Amino acid sequence: MNIVLLGSPGAGKGTQAKLLARHRGVAHIATGDLFRANARDGTELGKLAETYMDRGDLVPDEVTIRMLLKRLEEPDTENGAVFDGFPRNLAQARALDEALANHGMGVDCVVLIEVSDEEAVARLSTRWICRNCGAIYHRDPGTAIEGERCENCGGELYQREDDRPEVVRSRLDSQKPPLDMLDYYRQQGKLQTVNGQQDTEAVTAVLLSALDDKHGN
Ligand code: AMP
Repeated sequence: MNIVLLGSPGAGKGTQAKLLARHRGVAHIATGDLFRANARDGTELGKLAETYMDRGDLVPDEVTIRMLLKRLEEPDTENGAVFDGFPRNLAQARALDEALANHGMGVDCVVLIEVSDEEAVARLSTRWICRNCGAIYHRDPGTAIEGERCENCGGELYQREDDRPEVVRSRLDSQKPPLDMLDYYRQQGKLQTVNGQQDTEAVTAVLLSALDDKHGN
C-alpha cells in the first residue's frame, strides 16, 4: 500500500508517517530526512540541497525526483511506503505515479493534514528533535532544554536550522500543498482531509480509518 501524506510544514506529517509505516509494515520515505542525511554526510547532493533548505525553498524537482527514484529501488519499499514530504507539487506527483507504475503499484490513498499557519509557526518554532531517534519535543522559548536528553533513547536534542521563525515563514509561503496537485488527487477520488489540530492519537485514528475504508479491512 502506498500512502501520501500532504500538509504544510508543521502539520505533523513526519510524526504520523512514522506511526502509519510501522502500523502497516511499509517503508517511511521522507525526502527532507534524505536531504538532511546527505547534508550530514557532506555529499554533493547534500551540499546542493542545503543551499535551498537554508532559505526554506524547495530543492529543484530534477534533483528531488532523482533521489526519490533511487530510494524506491531499495527492497524495503516492495510492499509500499508512506510518503512524507513528497510530492510537493504536481510534477512530483506525476513522477511518483510513473515511478510506482514501473513497480506495478500506484498511490492508494492521499491524506491532507490541515493546520492553520499560526499553529504551524507555533509548533515549528518550539520544536526540538532527538538526533538519534527523531523523537519530537516542544519547549516554549525560555524554557530550559540545554542538557536535556531524549526520554526514549538518551539522544541529544537539537533545533532544525530551518525552524528559525524567519525561515518558517518562507517555508509556509512556498511549501503549502498547491491547488493543482490537490485537484490532481481529488479528481482521482484519492484525496481525504484530516484536521491536524487535534492530538496525535486522534489524528492517527482518523488516518487509520481512512486507510481501512480504502482497503475495506
Ligand atoms: P521537511 O523535512 O519535509 O520539512 O523538508 C525540509 C526541506 O527539504 C524543505 O524545506 C525543502 O527545502 C527540502 N525538501 C523536502 N522535500 C522536498 C520535496 N519533495 N521537493 C523539494 N524540496 C524538498
